[in-house]
Amino acid sequence: MERTFVMVKPDGVRRGLVGPILTRFEQKGFKLQDLKLMMIDRELAEQHYGEHRERPFFGELVSFLTSGKVCAMVWEGPNAIAGARLLIGQTNPANAAPGTIRGDFALEVSENIIHGSDSAESAGREIALFFGDAEEPDIPRFNIDEIDSYP
Ligand code: GDP
Ligand code: MG
Repeated sequence: MERTFVMVKPDGVRRGLVGPILTRFEQKGFKLQDLKLMMIDRELAEQHYGEHRERPFFGELVSFLTSGKVCAMVWEGPNAIAGARLLIGQTNPANAAPGTIRGDFALEVSENIIHGSDSAESAGREIALFFGDAEEPDIPRFNIDEIDSYP
């Protein structure tokens, strides 16, 4: 079993695409482990996309990510990390295959709707960044693992 971090970016939330995106992950068979609608501040956006700090589009990317609410999620399933990236499609929606989220819902790389972790290391880092470590939850909350799993 693997867990991955997925986030509907502000363009996806603005366009009302949270529902269709949740549906695709659920239809595939992945299990939703956690979800929240939130604003990202500049610091979190810069941490999340730290690997792109030197890229020319970094400023634009951070501004875009902080421009509205995002929907952060954790999905679980066999090969969830690679599987989510397959559902999401290529980074540039112009190259994303029809049937993928970016292929069906987006036109340009600057507004490509959704993020998915690219490796186990990224998934662990991003889940901790957005949902906090189990030992130090970001806000008081139920521990999802203590709730009986749904069928
Ligand atoms: P991903 O893992 O498929 O999301 O792609 P990357 O990790 O390579 O890039 C992270 C994000 O940066 C992408 O999802 C885009 O939102 C954004 N991005 C990538 N390339 C460009 C670009 O050339 N211009 C702009 N504005 N954003 C870009
Ligand atoms: Mg990436």
